[in-house]
Amino acid sequence: MIRECTVVVSPEQAADEGKLRRYVQDELGIAPGELTALRVLKRSIDARQRRIKVNLQLRIYLNEEPEAHLFVPTVYRPLPSDAPAAVVVGAGPAGLFAALRLVEHGIRPVLVERGKDVHARRLDIARISREHCVDPDSNYGFGEGGAGAYSDGKLFTRSKKRGDSLHILHVFCQHGASEAILSDAHPHLGSDKLPGIIERMRQTILRCGGEVRFGCRMEQILVDGGKTPRAVGIRTSGGEELRGPVILATGHSARDVYRHLAGHRRASFFIEPKGIAVGVRLEHPQQLIDSIQYHSPQGRGPWLPAAEYSFVAQSRGRGVYSFCMCPGGVVVPAATGPEQVVVNGMSASARSGRWANSGMVVEIRPEDAEPVMRDLPPAGGNASSEEGGALRVMHLQERLERLCWQQGGCRQTAPAQRMTDFVAARLSGDLPRSSYSPGLVASGLHCWLPEFVRGRLQEGLALFGKRCRGFLTREALLIGVETRTSAPVRIPRRADSLQHVAVEGLFPCGEGAGYAGGIVSAGVDGERCADALAAWLKK
Ligand SMILES: Cc1cc2nc3c(=O)[nH]c(=O)nc-3n(C[C@H](O)[C@H](O)[C@H](O)COP(=O)(O)OP(=O)(O)OC[C@H]3O[C@@H](n4cnc5c(N)ncnc54)[C@H](O)[C@@H]3O)c2cc1C
Repeated sequence: MIRECTVVVSPEQAADEGKLRRYVQDELGIAPGELTALRVLKRSIDARQRRIKVNLQLRIYLNEEPEAHLFVPTVYRPLPSDAPAAVVVGAGPAGLFAALRLVEHGIRPVLVERGKDVHARRLDIARISREHCVDPDSNYGFGEGGAGAYSDGKLFTRSKKRGDSLHILHVFCQHGASEAILSDAHPHLGSDKLPGIIERMRQTILRCGGEVRFGCRMEQILVDGGKTPRAVGIRTSGGEELRGPVILATGHSARDVYRHLAGHRRASFFIEPKGIAVGVRLEHPQQLIDSIQYHSPQGRGPWLPAAEYSFVAQSRGRGVYSFCMCPGGVVVPAATGPEQVVVNGMSASARSGRWANSGMVVEIRPEDAEPVMRDLPPAGGNASSEEGGALRVMHLQERLERLCWQQGGCRQTAPAQRMTDFVAARLSGDLPRSSYSPGLVASGLHCWLPEFVRGRLQEGLALFGKRCRGFLTREALLIGVETRTSAPVRIPRRADSLQHVAVEGLFPCGEGAGYAGGIVSAGVDGERCADALAAWLKK
């Protein structure tokens, strides 16, 4: 017999299967020997009170063996030799899930990725810290797995369609992720596990007859200029033409792609500016966050995970909030080109590092871009007046990242300030230790961040400090700048067919097109675009 029940247990009971079994047997009056197995279906921590509790939804097997897996595997069949082809640009979560879904539809994906495979990419990432050198095709944003490969791998999403996001988690499990992601309230994979999972996803695509090309940058979308412009393929950096409808999943950092769309002569690739959020990474000792969140000077003890936090406030009509919190993680140099300093965060699956970090960002709407930019020196480069309108939020990012690079000493060293000093608008004489491996330079962020961001961040951080005693502390650091929170552009598409509003056969997809924010929602959007492409080909 199989039963399901909900129990509230201590962290120790939740972590120790033997103790949990004994508790369940006693609580439900199950005779010893009758309980064959236990499976956790949902797990969440209730840390509101001093006594921490863990809520578990359990499936209990009485005199019965459990299923081999909790996930439902998807069947990927080999493609016939005459399968139609479709080009998928970008092997981030959106592109990978799109390619896998095309295989399900009997369409042969040709997946092109400007960067290297997920393992080779690691060496270029290491060079950023060691040599302060950013390869514009292989970095924290570009390469197999996209921006999600070397991340915390948090897998929660605000997506309304729970079924769709659950399917993404099942595909991850099928490719080697722990089944705990199906039960945890805040599931995450970790930067140590993600590369193996991504590699196995690629192997599924290849095994079925799909194609994956690395070091292959799309330089141009090929358009058949009939009455209704139609995307018929792409031209690559190697000069090759790859033919087929195009899923464009190039992420929020492919500025060359946005420039190509804004400047394309044959077809009007209509694009529009989109709001983002901009700010800094905040880093605390994890022990401090644990002791605050778990109400104990001893911290989290042996049974609880590294604690998380989340804050949100309004300041003068704009949101100020924490973003992408990485418990037990490190702050990473996430620039994708030269003369930029950009920070982000990641953590390994155990989340056992000494620090906790999160983005602390201020909402910027498209209409804010120009006033904020007046506070910033130009980024250089050659932004044409033609692209100025649609790309203005991107230009703001560029200016801020370049200014940050200058403030950091024109290397990947990042400007930083103690949290309390930033709020009080005074310079930091020294800095506490940090996880940011390229190194830090003490800098008055309150002097050079644009007032629009600086003032709201100061207000927000002071407020968060009042809400949560101990959070506003001189032990915490602000590290500049966090700008890659989402796409600065939306590539508009038709709601029914998911094709670009003006170009048939082109499916703008994922975070870069403005339809996703995070690994899971990018994966969901990839699958939706593949479904839409398959439906279009059938017509
Ligand atoms: C350090 C870090 C940590 C993060 N942590 C999390 C997290 O914990 N949880 C979460 O949900 N999200 C996290 N994110 C965000 C998440 O990674 C993105 O939301 C997600 O990867 C977006 O998926 P995507 O496929 O739309 O785009 P991307 O992942 O950006 O993928 C786009 C791909 O396209 C390729 N590409 C670009 N231009 C071209 C071209 N011209 N030709 C060929 N290929 C091209 C790029 O190389 C890249 O591989 C993090 C991001 C970073 C940088």
